[in-house]
Amino acid sequence: MRRIVIAGNWKMHKTQAESLEFLQSFLPQLENTAEDREVILCAPYTALGVMSKNLHGTRVRIGSQNVHWEESGAFTGEIAPSMLTEIGVTYAVVGHSERRQYFGETDETVNFRARAAQKAELTPILCVGESKEQRDAGQTETVIKEQLKADLVGVDLSQLVIAYEPIWAIGTGDTCEAEEANRVIGMIRSELSSSDVPIQYGGSVKPANIDEIMAQPEIDGALVGGASLDPVGFARIVNYEAT
Ligand code: PEP
Repeated sequence: MRRIVIAGNWKMHKTQAESLEFLQSFLPQLENTAEDREVILCAPYTALGVMSKNLHGTRVRIGSQNVHWEESGAFTGEIAPSMLTEIGVTYAVVGHSERRQYFGETDETVNFRARAAQKAELTPILCVGESKEQRDAGQTETVIKEQLKADLVGVDLSQLVIAYEPIWAIGTGDTCEAEEANRVIGMIRSELSSSDVPIQYGGSVKPANIDEIMAQPEIDGALVGGASLDPVGFARIVNYEAT
């Protein structure tokens, strides 16, 4: 059965102290959150340990923003799966467009990361999506199908979340129309051999548009960047009004 997954991606924001301050405000706002919603915070590496300790016994799960495919070695700046699981991390974002765009991430390395995450029992949140140029050229479906084909080689669909994140909508305030996000997510689902994989929408999600986004039948949650930094706003997103 498909489940609802709402994740915040803090990117390179928040020190340990700021993360704890966020939790103090955020957690009490989840007291009446519907049981069927999974909530994840993907914090910077330096805040994961302290967040994990403070989230023990709560419904909020911890995610990292990346993970390397080797268990150890000469990979300066990278982080191994066991380093994350040791401190209670259970999700890892892989293939975020900022990693692909600024740090040379390819479908091959995204696939390595997703497989290594699963081997360590971390659930990958795999990001796919087209650029503005690709959308304007009518290549949205082709680009996403190619990403899925390459990124999912050897990946277990029963331990996976996919995020459809049109690159032109990330951090721009320019949200993809809810119906269009629903259409593309339906297309993604039709490419998968299991219909149970939760597929999120990501790209300028905010309190003002979450209800409309979550009213779409194909959309199983959201991956939220900027709007997840504010505990009140992110709690409103988590507590979206179901129709
Ligand atoms: C993201 O970081 O995955 C994202 C969707 O960012 P924003 O919500 O700020 O567009």
